[in-house]
Amino acid sequence: MAEQPNAAAMATDAKSLVARLEGVAAYDATVVSTRRRTPNLHEVVLHCEGFTSLVALAGQDVMVEVPGAGTERFRRRYSIVDLDQDAATLALWIVAHGAGAGEAWVQAVAPGAHVDLVGPRGKQPVSATAAHHLYFADHSALGATKEMVAASRGESVMAFVEVATPEDAIELHAPSGVPFQCTWGHHDGHPGETSFLADAARTVALPPGVHVYINCEFTTMHATKAVLLERGLDPAQVVFKPYWRKGLSNAAHGEPPKG
Ligand SMILES: Cc1cc2nc3c(=O)[nH]c(=O)nc-3n(C[C@H](O)[C@H](O)[C@H](O)COP(=O)(O)OP(=O)(O)OC[C@H]3O[C@@H](n4cnc5c(N)ncnc54)[C@H](O)[C@@H]3O)c2cc1C
Repeated sequence: MAEQPNAAAMATDAKSLVARLEGVAAYDATVVSTRRRTPNLHEVVLHCEGFTSLVALAGQDVMVEVPGAGTERFRRRYSIVDLDQDAATLALWIVAHGAGAGEAWVQAVAPGAHVDLVGPRGKQPVSATAAHHLYFADHSALGATKEMVAASRGESVMAFVEVATPEDAIELHAPSGVPFQCTWGHHDGHPGETSFLADAARTVALPPGVHVYINCEFTTMHATKAVLLERGLDPAQVVFKPYWRKGLSNAAHGEPPKG
């Protein structure tokens, strides 16, 4: 008989998540503002007194509770952008991709709404010792990449970022004095279907001591990672995280399906 999922382990209410996940807290945040940051990116700014003591590493995210069908509640993970402890605010940059519980939530949410968050999540900090940092990201990881590039110290930082259209590019900044180059790609209505990131992985220079971060769609992530390992990088030099999976909904706890 197939093993049944453990209901307690799968629960996504804030109390269960805080009990199950190390180092996270629950926050009852209020929406301050919403806007289209660029044509295909929503920005939601949240306020919560608890954010004054929220410590998040660059690239970490929060699990947002969003309504599903009927009484179902899902979690969707969105990266923390512009955390300001003094103002007790943070922003979420959310791709306008068309359909899904998260998409429906962000389209409907308005200033004054309450948002149930759990975080911070994420276990792939920017390397403190790498000489060179190399990022591969799609539109969903633009917020995480903005934060991670800004926290990358060393001899160089390079990023390849695919967004929907040229108008969706948002200038990224490395720390002062760190040489930084960003190359933008555009999927032009075909997210998760281009070879922009894998092609870039095939030709980019890989200096000794490079640390690579791949955050994007599931299949694209695997293709990009495979190219880099074929080129001789040690698996320890490459960290990766699938953010979503083409044609499939993320699970109720926010992760893309693996099988
Ligand atoms: C650690 C982590 C951090 C993340 N941070 C962010 C973030 O900061 N901003 C952000 O926008 N997303 C982020 N994501 C991805 C986001 O959580 C998922 O894309 C989420 O599934 C979207 O939920 P949904 O309910 O709208 O769509 P789902 O129900 O999950 O999917 C519905 C359909 O939409 C497609 N789809 C889902 N996401 C996208 C997309 N980005 N582009 C095109 N098609 C898509 C799916 O393939 C599916 O066909 C993150 C994911 C993880 C794991």
